[in-house]
Amino acid sequence: MADNHTIASIFRHDNSAPAILTTASSDPKNITLAYADVKGQSERFIQLANKLYGKEIPAGSVISSLLPNGLACLLVFLATTFQRCVAAPLNPAMKQSEIEFYLEDADSKILIVPEGTSEDNEGVKAAHKLGVPVWGVGWEDDAGIKLAVLGDTPVELPTFKHQQISSINPQPDDTALLLHTSGTTGRPKAVPLTHANIARSMLNIANTYKLTKSDRSFIVMPLFHVHGLIGSTLSSLYAGGSVVLPSRFSASHFWPEYTDSKATWYSAVPTIHQILLRYDVPEPLPNIRFIRSCSAALAPTVLHDLENKLHAPVLEAYAMTEASHQMCSNPLPPAVHKSGSVGLPQGVEVAILDDDGNKTHLGEVCIRGENVTRGYLNNAEANAKSFTQGSNWFRTGDQGYIDEDGYVVLTGRIKELINRGGEKISPLELDAVLLKCPGVSEAVSFAIDDEMYGQEVNAAVVPKDGAEVTEDQVKQFMLENVAKFKVPKRVFVAQELPRTATGKIQRRVVAEHFTGKQQ
Ligand code: ATP
Ligand code: MG
Repeated sequence: MADNHTIASIFRHDNSAPAILTTASSDPKNITLAYADVKGQSERFIQLANKLYGKEIPAGSVISSLLPNGLACLLVFLATTFQRCVAAPLNPAMKQSEIEFYLEDADSKILIVPEGTSEDNEGVKAAHKLGVPVWGVGWEDDAGIKLAVLGDTPVELPTFKHQQISSINPQPDDTALLLHTSGTTGRPKAVPLTHANIARSMLNIANTYKLTKSDRSFIVMPLFHVHGLIGSTLSSLYAGGSVVLPSRFSASHFWPEYTDSKATWYSAVPTIHQILLRYDVPEPLPNIRFIRSCSAALAPTVLHDLENKLHAPVLEAYAMTEASHQMCSNPLPPAVHKSGSVGLPQGVEVAILDDDGNKTHLGEVCIRGENVTRGYLNNAEANAKSFTQGSNWFRTGDQGYIDEDGYVVLTGRIKELINRGGEKISPLELDAVLLKCPGVSEAVSFAIDDEMYGQEVNAAVVPKDGAEVTEDQVKQFMLENVAKFKVPKRVFVAQELPRTATGKIQRRVVAEHFTGKQQ
């Protein structure tokens, strides 16, 4: 069972050690599950699910869920994969039509929601419309996980004794997880990830940060994306360490709960780091070993402010759904971590290729490794474009180069490069300069259609609290710091930038928001 090539390899360590902890603001509160309890609860879930289904749920069935972060969410994921089914966790903030799209695209057989969810819930409405059964999951103090058809009484298991059951039997080639990409550059693509893909990613991440059983990760990212699920949670469990699972990210509770939980690290998107910088940190912050930033570009100023405030290394990593999360990361000290770089390849091969698949200095970042998906679901066109013929490199869609020390530097998404009269301008490079402009706290540059040049550069900036920033000041600053053709023709000063559910910037959406024109 504890095959190192499946997610069940988390049970190869000391099973009496703590695995999952909840906090005072979680539901259920202040619980610690040892690895043995996680195993027992997973087996309990499998039994309950099979009983509800009326027979053993066939291997390969997709089980979707709409659950906030917490014990139930993680256990439903683990148990689903252990019983050789495919977990498809979804964002509970979505609307009915979005949930319908994901349920249909994944061919979901069951939707799991928190017990007590109303019939008016967007997900419940979506599932009913498609004829997908909806089950409610909950927790009871003495027995643990409970399950019922939504609105019914929970299933009973009078003879439950987990020691006697062995329903945990995943195989390396089984698809364990079906997630969609964030949809930053177009329609989200369905990415199946096998146990072997995920196990390799867990191993790579544990190696990068030298995670051990003494490590404890505080989970702030949602478990319905690879960052929270694999980057923060499964990597810790793979190393035999533990995870602290608050129900949701709360900036005002973060530092007190982080300190109480004795966590040694956390991983988040740059937006969250930026928000956390506004709150007081208990001094000295005990136990913290490092902070990880991933999923979007970390501005060098934010990295430096965080390091000054927390006295711990801030390590930027580079990840994507298709790679079961991490591809590159800056290493722990004493090795050098560089701001503005996503670090070194971590257990994957990285090459910079041109359109014809030849190596070049500045080009598309391509990767190869056991953590990479075998291909998108039902999307032959995207698969043909994404894998090079013969050599089987996966094209990330990101542009970048490898510096003299082997560190990867990203210069932007290929689809988002600003092409001004044939001159390709990296929006990421411009954002970094804009962020150095006095008084600017957030910045995003983007392309707008232009009669003369095909595309022209525009930007939007958010001033720091209390700072006065004008369009002319920003343009003047850019004139002094970048070549004239890269200076934004217009700069919008705003209090907020539109972001996706995952905190990412869709430059196309930002452009439409500020210019009022479809790009
Ligand atoms: P879609 O593929 O649907 O357009 P997406 O690429 O945003 O959406 P994800 O898989 O969530 O979907 O994100 C992966 C992408 O996030 C990477 O390809 C890269 O563009 C970006 N990214 C990840 N880490 C970093 C980083 N440290 N710096 C800059 N960009 C990053
Ligand atoms: Mg992508």
